[in-house]
Amino acid sequence: MKLATYACDGKIKVGVVSSDGGKIVPVSALGYQAEEMSDFIRELGGEIPADLLSKVDTTDGDVFAQCKLLSPIPQPAQDILCLGVNYKDHQDETIKAGVSYDKNKTNTIYFGKRLNRAVGPDEYIDGHFNIVDSLDYEVELAVVIAKDAKDVALEDAKDYVLGYTILNDVSARNLQKKHQQWYFGKSLDDFTPIGPWIVTKEELGWLPEVGVRCYVNGELRQNSNTRLMITTIDTVIHELSQGMTLKAGTIIATGTPSGVGMGMSPQVWLGSGDVVRCEIDGIGALENTVK
Ligand code: MG
Repeated sequence: MKLATYACDGKIKVGVVSSDGGKIVPVSALGYQAEEMSDFIRELGGEIPADLLSKVDTTDGDVFAQCKLLSPIPQPAQDILCLGVNYKDHQDETIKAGVSYDKNKTNTIYFGKRLNRAVGPDEYIDGHFNIVDSLDYEVELAVVIAKDAKDVALEDAKDYVLGYTILNDVSARNLQKKHQQWYFGKSLDDFTPIGPWIVTKEELGWLPEVGVRCYVNGELRQNSNTRLMITTIDTVIHELSQGMTLKAGTIIATGTPSGVGMGMSPQVWLGSGDVVRCEIDGIGALENTVK
């Protein structure tokens, strides 16, 4: 099932896409009060009713072709939780590029990515070229938490996942290097495109093994599979929820595979007009142009 935030008839709505993809039914027509995705996630309370999709298919909605998809969670309540170097091949290219971290690490690297507003499908990314000389892309599978998670056992982690979406962890490599910490270089306005929707765990699967790709101006740059993650989603939820409550609606970006501009030889950076297309099998595509 696909959960979307979208614009239609001059209004912004939260809805569920029908099984034939032809319409989006606003959750208000399905008996929910929520006006935003974060509220809808809380209203679901960690459970998607088994009959929800059949209700969607038999309820009048908005014609999909006449709607514009926005980022599914346009204003997340908190920072994005991110994993650093969570694919072996990206770890190798990162070491080569000299981005500082302990290359003998045995523990997962976590960091935060601040955002005021998630960029939606087909929206522009501001390159901030007045302070950025090395703009880069990172396609990532993002996990959306279904209900507040605290002290979650490894084997129970599955119960806390609502679904998945695509996140482009846009990064200013010069700021990442200059300030040691990655926070600033990854948190500029527009550096977090998320979308095109949330695909539920029931549809994409638990610990999904799906293809992940990124194209720049049609050229394939990243091409991997989520089965190659070093730290898996269940471990992340188990580990982070020890001592830190992951609120419903929390977004976790699970890291990017190799093929980023920083890892190319010579290095290649994004410029104004470049089109970045992130794809994950079973979710779809998230395409944005650099402003
Ligand atoms: Mg990343």
